[in-house]
Amino acid sequence: MYKYLPDYIAEGILDINYKKLYEMGIRGLCFDIDNTLTEMYNDTIHNKAFTLIKDLQNMGFSLCISSNASKKRTALIAGRFGLEYVYRAFKPYKKGFDKVLLMLNLPANKCAMIGDQLFTDIKGGRKAGFLTILTKRINDHESWNVRLKRIFENKILIKYEKRIKEI
Ligand SMILES: [Mg+2]
Repeated sequence: MYKYLPDYIAEGILDINYKKLYEMGIRGLCFDIDNTLTEMYNDTIHNKAFTLIKDLQNMGFSLCISSNASKKRTALIAGRFGLEYVYRAFKPYKKGFDKVLLMLNLPANKCAMIGDQLFTDIKGGRKAGFLTILTKRINDHESWNVRLKRIFENKILIKYEKRIKEI
């Protein structure tokens, strides 16, 4: 069996049951940027995403952003939300997740990684001890290397889809 399946799956960031996450003891949320918080190659942020981030802060979550994107793009998007960030996080490697834990000031078992890619966000999050939530990509506008990874990702997800619960 493939080791790094997400704990949960959701349509998108607006569809996650954050109240349930809080009840489960999760206090820190780390969001991926591209195709999770925003469209890839697009700096526009939907108003609903801004509202969500504010609501989550009001619920008592600590939030941050972790992206494999450049400092420029990561800082731009994170800055609009007013969140701390890790750029060039090299997900799935552990180093970036360690930085996230320092920012959130929480142990990994109280943190959730939320992202759209199995081999970066989810694999890295699981290895680092986070709860992991895979969101469906916002759209198909992706780079060639991500599109290639999607072929393998889809095979795994189709095979194990029945074991992954929605949240
Ligand atoms: Mg992404």
